[in-house]
Amino acid sequence: MNLHEYQAKQLLANFGLDMPMGVCLEDNNPDSIAKALVPFQTHENVVVKAQIHAGGRGKGVFTENGQHGVQVVPLNQAEQAIASMFGNTLVTKQTGSEGKRVRKVYLTEAISVEKEFYVSILIDRTQQCPVLIASSEGGCEIEEVAQKSPDAILKLPIDPLLGLRPFQARKVCYLFGLTDELAQRCVQTLLKLYQAFVKLDASLIEINPLVSTKEGRICLLDAKVQLDDNALFRHPEYAALDDPYEKDPKEVEAGEAKLNYVALKGNIACLVNGAGLAMATMDIIQHFGGKPANFLDVGGGAKQEQIEAAFRIILKDPNVKGIFINIFGGILKCDMLAQGVVNAAHSVQLKLPLVIRMKGTNVEIGKQILKDSGLPLIPIDDLALAAQTIVDKVK
Ligand code: GDP
Ligand code: MN
Repeated sequence: MNLHEYQAKQLLANFGLDMPMGVCLEDNNPDSIAKALVPFQTHENVVVKAQIHAGGRGKGVFTENGQHGVQVVPLNQAEQAIASMFGNTLVTKQTGSEGKRVRKVYLTEAISVEKEFYVSILIDRTQQCPVLIASSEGGCEIEEVAQKSPDAILKLPIDPLLGLRPFQARKVCYLFGLTDELAQRCVQTLLKLYQAFVKLDASLIEINPLVSTKEGRICLLDAKVQLDDNALFRHPEYAALDDPYEKDPKEVEAGEAKLNYVALKGNIACLVNGAGLAMATMDIIQHFGGKPANFLDVGGGAKQEQIEAAFRIILKDPNVKGIFINIFGGILKCDMLAQGVVNAAHSVQLKLPLVIRMKGTNVEIGKQILKDSGLPLIPIDDLALAAQTIVDKVK
């Protein structure tokens, strides 16, 4: 689960981490803006930050007015900066060319930055433990730093039983060139960040930039937090942080129907049961030169209504030019699947080519249902041939 910067910072503030004071605006009306600006009255500058689930906002540009997604402005220009963001579309390196519409704007205190650093904590699957990644080149994309100057990056594995050790945090301070009080403060910051990572059940915390200031602060200027979906059941309070606008509406609908759906960029819609079979199905489509439009696992025991919902959802993607159904009937019986597909195909007046491969329980009854439906479905038993056929049909 992804969070907005302002939400991430609210969660991190509970761990005693230092960050700029901030207020999040949810609408562009003069009263709320005036109210939000009250705590900044004595400040010379404020930072106005578009809240979207994507990074690179500082360099990102609004389609409508060419302004940037992070603007440091004098207090009396805050309103103007806010207005340049609300309702407009921000295109950054991470949004794709279609960009993202801004519905929330975060106002923060402007910090006078001395140095910018990069810090993140995430799970390293190969090392099977959390790792802390630090770089003295803050504010830049870590992927670029990794390519251009890999020596500027420190990657420290963390023993989950011991946690982040103070000597590891001191190594980071050495890399950052911090000494004395700033170094001590930075060690505390890193230890608190690791505590937060564990307590929040995060899968990623990325602070880019973490900054030092002349006044001796170690301050989180930006924060990206990803919460581990598998731990959400332990945090009912996270439900309120979910922003449906940031998700693909098809994925939201699939979630409500208890289907595992991920939208992709191709043109062959897939309906499969079992995550492994779904992955294999996408692989074989790709193998024959096709591109899957989605990952969809309807689950081992899908009901007829779920099959119908799945069918509706995959067809909402305007790029879809053909459908491939690959089902192994175990608990989910082939006749039930076939009936679900036929009902759904009739109700949407299906015109697209549909290749269907079924195996397992009640397969003969299922095939009969498909045959009797009068729909132009193409049943094929052989997986390779089935995949090849749908790839050919969409060409
Ligand atoms: P991102 O571009 O989406 O990663 O957004 P950030 O929150 O990281 O902001 C982009 C850049 O704006 C940062 O890397 C900083 O260089 C700059 N910035 C953000 N807030 C402040 C601030 O309070 N003071 C100063 N001087 N620069 C800031
Ligand atoms: Mn950033």
